[in-house]
Amino acid sequence: MKHSSFDVVVIGAGHAGLEAALAAARMGVQTALITLRATDLGAMSCNPAVGGLGKGHLVREIDALDGAMGRLADAAGIQFRLLNRSKGPAVQGPRAQVDRKLYKIEALKEVRSTRNLTLIEGEVTDFRISSGTVRAVILADGNEFAAKSVILTAGTFLRGVIHIGHEQSQGGRIGARPSIRLAERLESLGLRTGRLKTGTPPRLDRETIDWELLEWQPGDDRPEMLSFLSRAPVVEQVACAITHTNAQTHDIIRENLDASAMYGGAISGVGPRYCPSIEDKVTRFADKSSHQIFLEPEGLDSRQIYPNGISTSLPANIQEGYVRSIRGLRNARILQPGYAIEYDYFDPRGLSATLELKEIKGLFFAGQINGTTGYEEAAAQGLVAGLNAALAAKDGEAVVFSRTDSYIGVMIDDLVTRGVSEPYRMFTSRAEFRLSLRADNADQRLTPLGIRLGCVGEARKAAYSEKAEALARGRRQLESEQFTPRALNAAGIKVREDGKKRSAWDVLAFPDTSFDAVEHLVPAASEIPEKTRDQLRRDALYVNYIKRQASDIEALKRDQGLEIPQELDFLRLSGLTNEVASKLAEAAPSTIAQAARIEGVTPAALTLILGHIRRFKGKKAG
Ligand code: FAD
Repeated sequence: MKHSSFDVVVIGAGHAGLEAALAAARMGVQTALITLRATDLGAMSCNPAVGGLGKGHLVREIDALDGAMGRLADAAGIQFRLLNRSKGPAVQGPRAQVDRKLYKIEALKEVRSTRNLTLIEGEVTDFRISSGTVRAVILADGNEFAAKSVILTAGTFLRGVIHIGHEQSQGGRIGARPSIRLAERLESLGLRTGRLKTGTPPRLDRETIDWELLEWQPGDDRPEMLSFLSRAPVVEQVACAITHTNAQTHDIIRENLDASAMYGGAISGVGPRYCPSIEDKVTRFADKSSHQIFLEPEGLDSRQIYPNGISTSLPANIQEGYVRSIRGLRNARILQPGYAIEYDYFDPRGLSATLELKEIKGLFFAGQINGTTGYEEAAAQGLVAGLNAALAAKDGEAVVFSRTDSYIGVMIDDLVTRGVSEPYRMFTSRAEFRLSLRADNADQRLTPLGIRLGCVGEARKAAYSEKAEALARGRRQLESEQFTPRALNAAGIKVREDGKKRSAWDVLAFPDTSFDAVEHLVPAASEIPEKTRDQLRRDALYVNYIKRQASDIEALKRDQGLEIPQELDFLRLSGLTNEVASKLAEAAPSTIAQAARIEGVTPAALTLILGHIRRFKGKKAG
C-alpha cells in the first residue's frame, strides 16, 4: 500500500481536473492528478468542439493565465470559426471543432511534460478529514495520499445513471463506470446536493451518409485561433455538413415521447435549457417545422459523425427511425445510440469564491459537480480551484476573480451567490461589463495577473510583453498629435466643427474611421503591424461604449430599490429571453434588487426592465 504526500491532489482528469492540476503544478507545488483511467484525460463526453459564444471568452481567459484548453484545441482543431463575426467584437466567440483523439493525445503530452505533476490511475473512494480540514484521499485499492489541498472534479460520474429509453444502467458516461462510493461518502458530509441531467445525440457512421445531398459549411478563410500563442491550424481542416429535421422526424418523436427517458418520467433531474434534446425542441417549439443539424466529423481518421442538434434519450430503434427520416441520413447507421445521464451535483452556494468548501477547509470543488455544463465552464473553474489550492498549500493569499475583470469572475460569482436550478452555461448576456470583457483582450486583462501569481510560463511572458509594448507604442503614436476638426474632415474623417481638437486615437473610436484614414494624419502609423492595428482598433472602438456601460451599471446600482409596478407583465416585455421572462413571472419580484437575486436574471435583462419601468411610469405620469 502506498502512502505518499502531495501539496495538491486533484480527483478526476476531465476538463476541470486537467486545468486544475496543470495550474497547481505551474504554481510550483507538488501535484497529483488521480483519475479512473489515464485515457480519461481531456475526454470529451459530448460534442467535439471547444469555444463558441460566451464559452470562447472563457477559453481565452484560461489561455491568458497560461491554461491548456486553448492550446490543446488549436493543436487538435480541424475547423475554426469565429461565431457572430458580423457583430461587434464583444459578442464574437471563437470556436474550434476538434479531433477527439488528437485532443486527448495533446492533453496527455501536456500532463507528461509538466513539472511537479504526477498522474495516478485509480478510484478515490474516501477522504480523511479532521478538525474540519481535509487531510488525505483514500483510493479503492487502499492507497492513501496526503495533501494540503484536494480538488474534486468528478463531472457526471457521481451516482451517474445512463438512460436510453426505459433502459437504465449505471455509468459516468457511456463506457465508463460511475463513482458511487465517493458519492456516498460525500453524502455523509451533509452537503446540499441535487440531481441534474444532460444528453447526447447518437453517433453516425460517416460511410453511410449521403453527403452529396447536403449543404457544406467550411471553416473561416482566416482562422481565428483560440490561444494567443497559436498562429495557424496545424492539422488538416475539414468542412461540416448541414441538414434539417422535418415533419416526419417530428411525428416519429412525438408519437414516441412516452418511451423517452426525459419525457416518460424516468429522470427526475433538471436538464440544460440551452442544449435541449430533440424531444424538448419538438414539444417546446411545436410551431417550428424543422430544426438545423450540423454533421460534425469527430476526427480526421474517425468514422464517427456527431449530429449536433439531436441529443436524445429515446430507445435506440426509435432513434434509428427518426434519424433515417432526415435528408442525407436515409441509410445512416448508428454507431452509438444517444443517451441521457443523470448525476449528483452540489449546491455551489456552499463554496467560497475560491471554490473551497465553506464547511471543509482545503477541499475544493470544480466543474460539472457545481451545477455547470460544458467543457469550458468546467475548465475555468478548474483553473480557479487549481490556483487557489496551490496558493493555500503555499500559505499564499487567495486569488478571487471579479465580475469586472473576467467571465471567470462572472461565472464564479453567479454560482456561489445565486446557485443553480438547472445546468449553468455561460452567455455574454450574463456579464454586465461585456464591452470590456472581450475575447480579444483577455490577455490584456489577465496575463499581467497571471505573471504576478506565478502561473505564466516564460514563452507566454515573452510573447505578452512584446505584444503589450507594441500596443503601447502604437497608442503613443496615435495620441502624439491633436488635430482640428477641419484637419480631420480634410483627411476624410467626419467630425463636427465644434472647435475641439482630437487625436488619431480619439477618432479611431468612431465606428466608420478606417485605419487608412488615420495613416493620413499620422504617417508613422503605417509601420504598425497588422495584428497590433487590429487590436488598437478594437480597443479604441470600445472606449466610448465602455463609458456608457459604466453609467448603465451605475444606474442599475442606484435603482436597486426601485419598485416594479405590479401591472408589469414580464411575459410580454420585448427583449427578455423566455427563460428570464418565465423566471421573473414566477417569482414576481417587487423591486429591482429582488429581481437581481433571481438565478438566471442577467444584468442585460435588468437594464431592459429598468427601461420599461421608466417608460411605464412616464406614460402614467403623462
Ligand atoms: P468530466 O469531464 O465528466 O470528468 C470527470 C472525471 O472525473 C473523469 O475523468 C472521471 O474518470 C473522473 N472521476 C470521477 N470519479 C472519480 C473517482 N472517484 N476517482 C477518480 N477519478 C474520478 N456539455 C455541454 O456543454 N453541452 C452538452 O450538450 C453536453 N452534453 C453532455 C452529454 C453527456 C452524455 C455527458 C456525459 C456530458 C455532457 N456535457 C455537455 C457535459 C460535459 O461533458 C461536461 O460539462 C464536462 O466534461 C465537465 O467536465 P468535468 O471536468 O467537470 O467532468
